[in-house]
This record gives sequence, structure tokens and C-alpha cells, in this order.
Amino acid sequence: MTDDPPGTGGDSRLELLGELINLHAQAMQRMPWIQTLLIAGIALLVRLRVPPAWLIVWGLASIAVEALRATVAQRILSARIGWTPVTAHRVFVALAGLSGLAIGCGSVVFLPALPILDQALLGIVLFAIPAAGTAVSQSSPPILGAYAAGVLLPASATWIHLYPSQAVVISVLTLLYAIVLILVTADGQKLLRRSILIRHERDRLILDLEQRNTEVATAMQEAENAAMARSRVLAAASHDLRQPLHALSVYNAVLASSPNPQLLAEASQNIGQIVRSLGALLNSLLDLSRFSPENYAPARLEVSLQHIVAEVCAEFREAARQKGLALVEEFGEVRVMGDPVAIARIARNLIDNAIKYTAQGEVRVSTRIELMGGEQQAVLVVADTGCGIAPAEHARIFEEFYQLDNPGRDRAKGVGLGLAIVQRLCELTGSRIHVDSVPGRGSTFKVMLPALISSTPAVAPAGAAHADHHAGKRVFLVDDEQIILNSMRTLLVLWSYRVHTAASAREADALFAAQGAPDLLIIDLRLGPDNGADLAQAWARNHGTFPTLIISGETDSARLQQLKGAGRRILQKPIAPEVLAEEIRLALARGMPNLRLAH
Ligand code: ADP
Repeated sequence: MTDDPPGTGGDSRLELLGELINLHAQAMQRMPWIQTLLIAGIALLVRLRVPPAWLIVWGLASIAVEALRATVAQRILSARIGWTPVTAHRVFVALAGLSGLAIGCGSVVFLPALPILDQALLGIVLFAIPAAGTAVSQSSPPILGAYAAGVLLPASATWIHLYPSQAVVISVLTLLYAIVLILVTADGQKLLRRSILIRHERDRLILDLEQRNTEVATAMQEAENAAMARSRVLAAASHDLRQPLHALSVYNAVLASSPNPQLLAEASQNIGQIVRSLGALLNSLLDLSRFSPENYAPARLEVSLQHIVAEVCAEFREAARQKGLALVEEFGEVRVMGDPVAIARIARNLIDNAIKYTAQGEVRVSTRIELMGGEQQAVLVVADTGCGIAPAEHARIFEEFYQLDNPGRDRAKGVGLGLAIVQRLCELTGSRIHVDSVPGRGSTFKVMLPALISSTPAVAPAGAAHADHHAGKRVFLVDDEQIILNSMRTLLVLWSYRVHTAASAREADALFAAQGAPDLLIIDLRLGPDNGADLAQAWARNHGTFPTLIISGETDSARLQQLKGAGRRILQKPIAPEVLAEEIRLALARGMPNLRLAH
């Protein structure tokens, strides 16, 4: 079996041979019937000259050989014989030789007994038999060769024995005939192999197409899910924005009616609460869009898990104390390659929830290494003794705006995005989160972080700045929105800073010229036609370095990423007063170099 089409390797050659063997085996099953007819025809020709016993023995012997061939073929097709294609091919070659010989033996016995005319007729029949064989043995020249040799050699030898004068002619003709038959079979085999290869190629293409179809269907499903999720978020967000805005307009009317001091105090308190929850909602929505694969590339830094989580715990100590909860910290040494911002954010949201949904008892925060599936795994666990979550809700609480126990969507009870953000961050950083909770008995959130490091020492993230009193520090405030300039100045003066304001780059230039560098510059990123960050850099060059906080309403994550990439500290509006106070304190305490990015 040679002459392989290009690109046909050893394995596919065997596969092809297997297919050809199967084709041959199918043809073999019809052979006992064809052979019987052939024997009947020859018997008709020679019956008057040959003893019937010889005829019967010869006929039965050659039918038996064909029956053997058919049985072997049947067993190969039904896979009852575990032969390799090469072995099966060899067996078929041998059986073809035997079958041809059975016919050929007949010629040895019959030819001498016949008159010349019948001899010629039988000769034609004998020579025609191998030609018919090319049809059934098209899949293999060796099979056809063996069959033709079995028939032709005894027949020509007998003819030569009877007519020695024709020895040369008969030998040459027989040889040429055999060669032609083998060449015809080889061509047929080539055709067969090509059609098998084409069929294989077609099957492969269909499989390929089916796989592509599945991929396209999956991608479409994902896009549909994403679109549905987006519209769900939008619907919930617009509802949650409309309520407080309505309340604000009501309070606006109250304020416009010159209320008495008590009503004024009440309105101001409520407005403060509304603004805080609006800010929280907006921040969470921004985070939700920020923490997506397109907008956020998680860092891969060597960090100490327990250091990051310990800092987050420190933020919640006071809140836990006020609720009478014990905040238990169990920190084992765990170092991972991870994103400190994402890890801190995950820990913050989980601890915040644990405190929020626990009325009494404790919140236990642990970092440790656990053995999972034979592998060491870095884990962060936040467990509480709070209200717990019903098993049916375990998956749903990670959906955007999904909240339990808040049918009135009271924003003071949270916005319902905390766990959605946690989930996003886990997906982005290759972490897994698991919740275990029994209603009334508490909840345990376990985060399995990837990339545990066991050897190299970790770099602890920068610790919180020392509390420092910076009253009286000179702060330059530059913003082209008068309303923001006024409100921020009031607040900063309240916090005892000396504040100088400028509403444009030109005014700020004059301020720097008159006063020199401030202790802190707070500047809007988009200052009319100018860029606050660039202006700050220019003033630093001319007047000496000073810490800077850039404030921005920018939501274009690519632009923000670009600015942060340039090492700039950006605060996104709206900024909660507590956050602003802390940022100012940190900037002044660190004597933060101009435009350095703090984490
Ligand atoms: P939010 O806390 O703002 O409502 P989250 O997405 O953080 O939104 O949580 C979704 C819901 O999951 C919450 O409304 C709360 O019912 C439930 N939940 C989250 N954490 C806990 C917890 N530790 N104990 C009990 N319930 C929780």
C-alpha cells in the first residue's frame, strides 16, 4: 500500500488501510454466491468430459475457500477479530491467492480433458476471471495480484504443457495481462483513497464548523447576558438615583420656605445622609465599571496578605466597637503574588458586610494557608455570627443590586453592589469566593487567592500615615466651578487650614507668583482649556515641589488609567468629606512629593 497522497502520515496511512480493508471485506461477503454461479457455468461447459466426482470436489473446495473468505470478512467487519489493518491485509492476500488457486486447479484438471474448441472457451473464461477480480479487489493491488497469480499460473502452465509451441506467447501474454490488471487496480485504489481522504476532510470541516457554531452561540449568549446585566444595573441604578433626587428637591422646597432652626437642622442632617448615600451609590457604580476586564489590569506584586487585611481591619475597629462586636483578627503569615488594591477592596467589602449584618457576637477575620486538593492555598476568611443567609440566596447575593431584607431599597442599608464588586475582583484576579451560611447562625465568606509564594520575603504595603495635626497649613484650591470652590473653601476653613482659592489657571499663576509654593495644592483636573495635572507640574518646576491632590469628575477609565500610569494621585468626585480629610492629612503628613501616586 504505497503512493500516499501528500501529507499522509503513518497513523492516517493505517487508518486508510483499515478503511480499504473494510471495503474489501464488504465485497467478500457476496463472493460465495458469485463463486457458485461461476462454478455452475464452468460445470456446464465441462460436464460431458469430466467425471462428475471431480467436478463436485473441485466445486465444493472452491466454494469452501470463498465461504472462508466471507466468514473472515464478516468477523473483521463486526470487529470480532482484533487484527491490525496490516495483519488483516496479509490474511486477505493469502486468502485471495488460495481462492485463485482453487479456480486455477480446475483448469489443470479440465483443460486436458476438453476438445480444442472447449479448451479455447474455458481459456477465455479463466482469463476473464481475474479481470472481474479487479472490481472486488480494487482496494488492494497485492490482493488482486495474489488472486490473478492463483488463477493464471496453473492455467497458462497447463496450456503450455498442452501446446509447447505457444510457450513464449502464452508466458508473455499472461505476464502483460497480469501487469495491466495490477496497474488498473492501483489506479482504482488511488481513486478510492482520494475519496476516503475527501470524506475525512469533509468530516473534519463539519466538526470544525460545529465547534465554531458552538463558540459563536456561546459568545452570543455571553453578550446577551452582559447586555441584560447592564440593563438590569441601569434600571436599578436609575431607580436608586431618582428616589434621593426627589427627596433632595423636597428638602430644597423646605429650605426655600425659611424654616425654623429645628427644621433647618433636621433638613441639613437628612440632606447630609442623602448626599452620602448618593455618593456611595455613584462610587460603587464607578467601581463596577472600573473593575471590568477592559478597564482594569490587576497588578501582580509580591504582597503580604495579612498586612493588607490588618490595615483594612484597622479601618473597622471603631465601627465594630460601636456595635458592641468583637473584631477578632487571626493572621497567619501568607505571601501571594497579587493586586493589593483588589485584595484590600475584597477584604473591605466583606468585613463591612459582616459588621453591617451582625447584631451581636463577633466578626472573625483570618488569613492562612490551607491544603486543598493536595495543594497549598492562600485564603482570606471573614466569618460572622450575624443574621446569616438562606442557602437559596447564596448565589444571588453576588448579583448587582440584589439585597435581602431591603424591599423598600433603603439606601442607608447599603446599595447592593458590594458583593458584585467582590465577585468581579475575584474573577479579575483569578481568585475564588465561597460562602457558607446558616440563617440565624452567621456567615463565612472564604476567598481562595492564587499564586501563593512560600519563599521570598514580602513587601508590606505602605502603612497608614501617622495622625498629625496640620492646622494652619496653607492650601491652594484651584477649580473653575465656583460652587465647588466655595463649598470646599468653607469645609477646609472649618478644618482650620489657611485656604487660597483660584478659579482659573491665570488666577492661580498670580497666586503662586504672590505667595510661592503652598503646603498643599488641590486642583481640578479639567480647568477650562487647561489640564490641572500639567499646570501643577509647571508650578512645581517654577516654585519648588509641594504635595498635590488632583480632583476629577473624569469617568473615562482609559484617561484615568493614563493619568495614574503617569504616577498621579487622582480623587474622583464625589469625594466623601471623611475621605478628603484623610487624603489631605496623608498628603501633608507624608510631605508627599509632587504628583506622586499613593495607593
Ligand atoms: P449591600 O450590603 O450593600 O446590601 P452586598 O452586595 O454587599 O450589598 O450584599 C448583598 C446582600 O447579601 C445584602 O443585602 C445582604 O442581605 C446579604 N449579605 C451580604 N453579606 C452578608 C453577611 N455577612 N451576613 C448576612 N447577609 C449578608
